[in-house]
Amino acid sequence: MNKKTIRDIDVAGKTCLVRVDFNVPIDPNTGLIADDSRIRAALPTVHHLQSKGARIVLCSHNGRPKGKVVEELRMTAIRQRASDWFNTDILDAGLPGDNTDPADVIAKLAPGEIAMLENLRFNAGEEANDPAFAKALASLADIYVNDAFGAAHRAHASTAGVADYLPAVAGYLMERELRMLTRALESDEKPAVAIIGGAKVADKIQVLANLSKRVDTVIIGGGMVAAFLKAQGYEPGAAEITDEEVHAAGQLLFSSPAKIMTPSDVVVAREFAEDATPYVVEVTDVPRDSLILDIGPGTRVDYADEIIEAKRIIWNGPMGVVEWESFSEGTRAVARAVAVAPDAFTLVGGGSTVAVIEKLNLRSELTHVSTGGGASLEFLEGKVLPGIAALDDR
Ligand code: ADP
Ligand code: MG
Repeated sequence: MNKKTIRDIDVAGKTCLVRVDFNVPIDPNTGLIADDSRIRAALPTVHHLQSKGARIVLCSHNGRPKGKVVEELRMTAIRQRASDWFNTDILDAGLPGDNTDPADVIAKLAPGEIAMLENLRFNAGEEANDPAFAKALASLADIYVNDAFGAAHRAHASTAGVADYLPAVAGYLMERELRMLTRALESDEKPAVAIIGGAKVADKIQVLANLSKRVDTVIIGGGMVAAFLKAQGYEPGAAEITDEEVHAAGQLLFSSPAKIMTPSDVVVAREFAEDATPYVVEVTDVPRDSLILDIGPGTRVDYADEIIEAKRIIWNGPMGVVEWESFSEGTRAVARAVAVAPDAFTLVGGGSTVAVIEKLNLRSELTHVSTGGGASLEFLEGKVLPGIAALDDR
């Protein structure tokens, strides 16, 4: 870790502006918080700062209010839930530019006490990374702590801009993400396998390019299988595939330093529908009128063999249309193989992929399940994330 963390600085008596990711899913029917794991995840950082006698100002975005106040996107319920988990009353500090000045509320905090700002994206300066808004946020505190890995790929006022004006360090969550993602890309644990699936090749070209330089084997699944089959000269079925996609697949197949594994058999259907009849076919026999919706049973075994032998495993993207029972077996098989690989370092990222892990109850079998969908993908692509770059070097 070449970035400073909350352990590297003295926070006693200081006010810390802590950027968290409390953008929690809300149940559309009840309006209640559907999953508060992001709130719980901030506990270690909050606890550390409390125990060292810091004053804490939490801040987060929630949803997409686009620079305006949207009543349903206020932090009220989130602040309440955080108060419950952190076992303390969290004060409502509003936002810079509001009627109530956040500074007045924050001035009332005793060491160890907590306030929370209103939804940062109510102010257009947040997403625009307006220096005036970043400065206004910075003026509320002595130290900036970023614990919102899930927002680190955004250069917003609260994720990047504010770090220009304050000492800036990583919280525990951020630190763990950086350590685990760095290990996934750079450690010499071998053999290393990257499993990449998902809906479209276009979304994954960058990550494939980067990972193929850093692992021994790349395993291909999901919607991009069609492009890889076409690049190998097979009939890819009815999916629309662009020349760019076939070119990208071919480039990887024929000039990558890593071994590229593609399916030998697939599950296809005549329509893209949950109740469509599934057929297993060899990749040499994909019917022109069918869509490839999962990897086949033979491929599941081959992939699992390779995965179980690995000592470092990175997985992003389902092997098929995992939301539909008939096309979910490939993804389940891969999930189980990743979970049982003996003594392997295992890292899983991506919204749908993590959802599968949760559904199969495999989280505790993995070394790290990344909380940041877009952020973890960009990290694995080898990109510099603005929210990380902005933190102070050690
Ligand atoms: P993650 O959210 O884990 O990063 P992606 O967003 O890249 O993964 O892709 C997830 C989506 O890909 C899922 O909704 C899944 O249904 C879809 N998908 C997987 N395989 C196929 C396929 N063969 N055809 C169409 N969609 C697919
Ligand atoms: Mg996704």
